[in-house]
Amino acid sequence: MKHPKGPSGMNPNRRKFLQASGLGLAAAASTGLVTSNATAERIQSNAHIVIVGAGAAGLDAANRLSREIEGARITIIDARTEHIYQPGLTLVATGIWQPTKVMDRNARYMPEGIDWIPARVSEFDPEANAVLTDDGQRITYDYLMVTTGLQVNYDAIEGMSTDLIGQMGIGCVYDNPNHAEKTWNMINAFTDTGGVGLFTRPPGPVKCAGAPLKVTMLTEDLFERKGTRPAADLFYTPPAKGLFSQPDINEFLKEELPSRGVTLLWDHPLKGIEPELKRATFQTPEGQKTLDYDFIHVVPPMQAPEPLAKSALAWQSGPFAAGHWMEVDQRTMQHPRYTNVFGSGDCVGTPIGKTAASVKAQVPVAVANLVSVIADRALTAQYTGYTSCPLITRKGQGILVEFDYDLKMVPSFPFIDPYEKHWFPWMLKDRMLHSAYNAMLRGRV
Ligand SMILES: Cc1cc2nc3c(=O)[nH]c(=O)nc-3n(C[C@H](O)[C@H](O)[C@H](O)COP(=O)(O)OP(=O)(O)OC[C@H]3O[C@@H](n4cnc5c(N)ncnc54)[C@H](O)[C@@H]3O)c2cc1C
Repeated sequence: MKHPKGPSGMNPNRRKFLQASGLGLAAAASTGLVTSNATAERIQSNAHIVIVGAGAAGLDAANRLSREIEGARITIIDARTEHIYQPGLTLVATGIWQPTKVMDRNARYMPEGIDWIPARVSEFDPEANAVLTDDGQRITYDYLMVTTGLQVNYDAIEGMSTDLIGQMGIGCVYDNPNHAEKTWNMINAFTDTGGVGLFTRPPGPVKCAGAPLKVTMLTEDLFERKGTRPAADLFYTPPAKGLFSQPDINEFLKEELPSRGVTLLWDHPLKGIEPELKRATFQTPEGQKTLDYDFIHVVPPMQAPEPLAKSALAWQSGPFAAGHWMEVDQRTMQHPRYTNVFGSGDCVGTPIGKTAASVKAQVPVAVANLVSVIADRALTAQYTGYTSCPLITRKGQGILVEFDYDLKMVPSFPFIDPYEKHWFPWMLKDRMLHSAYNAMLRGRV
């Protein structure tokens, strides 16, 4: 089936920029690298700015803030020293990349002159402009940037624990290279022997909504490449009646998965697993249903990290209150109740987001608007909701999904039909986006 083409939507200046700057920066463009209207002017201030979380968004923000504000004291708080290139985890879990390829060190991206406190924030106290750390420090701030990412709730699936990943047919691509590598061990064995494979997806927002789909399609592809496909029954179990938030891509997937023999079990949120019995229970509208499996890809529900979730910074009502996501204005990234607080990345409750591509589009906006607050100027930078995902359909092939808050496709590459499977999105994913991501950590693109 030929899929409906969305409006080209490409800004002529942006096209000129891409043409002039060649493929390297074009790759960067696909992660939202040239989508922002946010450029902060360099200002002077002696304010104390605290950044909580030194992941993709935190490091990007730290580098930008330290360049754009002269004289400010900037503190970043995160106990984690290693940096994981999370977009590579789907390739590790399907045996295409080695785990070492996604491992890096935060120290390589820390700007000079910044204070790095290696601790975890255990409490946010925005009334007192302070955060408390798990090693007993109380740190006050003038301005706060929250970039804590999200928390994967393994406990929300009965019988599930991270110790089970890599055993008894259980995989989970999320969180770290160790889980991804163990998931690969399970997928490799499963694609040798065949059997029943269940690929789950929880209700609510998850980081990279494409990841559970990519694991499913790359596993199916591996069966075909090994010549064992007839030995497998594969099921994808969405929690409701959709596969993807962007309607054209939803239609594409509703055709793609069944055309490859993957059965869609609508309204099947995973409730629990019995690892010894290799049995999964789903909470369907008709009641609980159990299915036996040989391999299961468990994707647990996700939420804002606990200290943020229980703080006054979380949404108190509305659609994002369920995941306790941080409240921000979806355009300016400013907290509406605590105006000296900004957020970006997976932790914020916005209608679209939770990709590194959205981080790249959000952080320049959050930083430019924070600089405007410090300089007592109007907030002019706006996040459009841009997100992007090279949705890998097979090894060597994918579609490049880019859209915004209007759920309108906003393709960066005029020569790529976003509804046709092509080698180019694969090449972006396999060869180009990692270096674009690293440049983003340095706040450079
Ligand atoms: C399997 C998988 C595949 C993906 N594929 C893609 C893709 O193809 N394309 C794409 O664009 N994106 C993809 N993503 C999503 C992307 O990796 C994330 O959206 C991005 O990393 C979010 O950045 P962040 O800074 O918000 O969170 P993170 O990068 O996760 O960083 C959060 C940081 O906050 C720290 N932290 C947490 N709590 C606290 C606390 N209380 N105190 C102090 N520090 C704290 C953590 O230690 C961590 O260092 C994928 C993610 C996964 C897991």
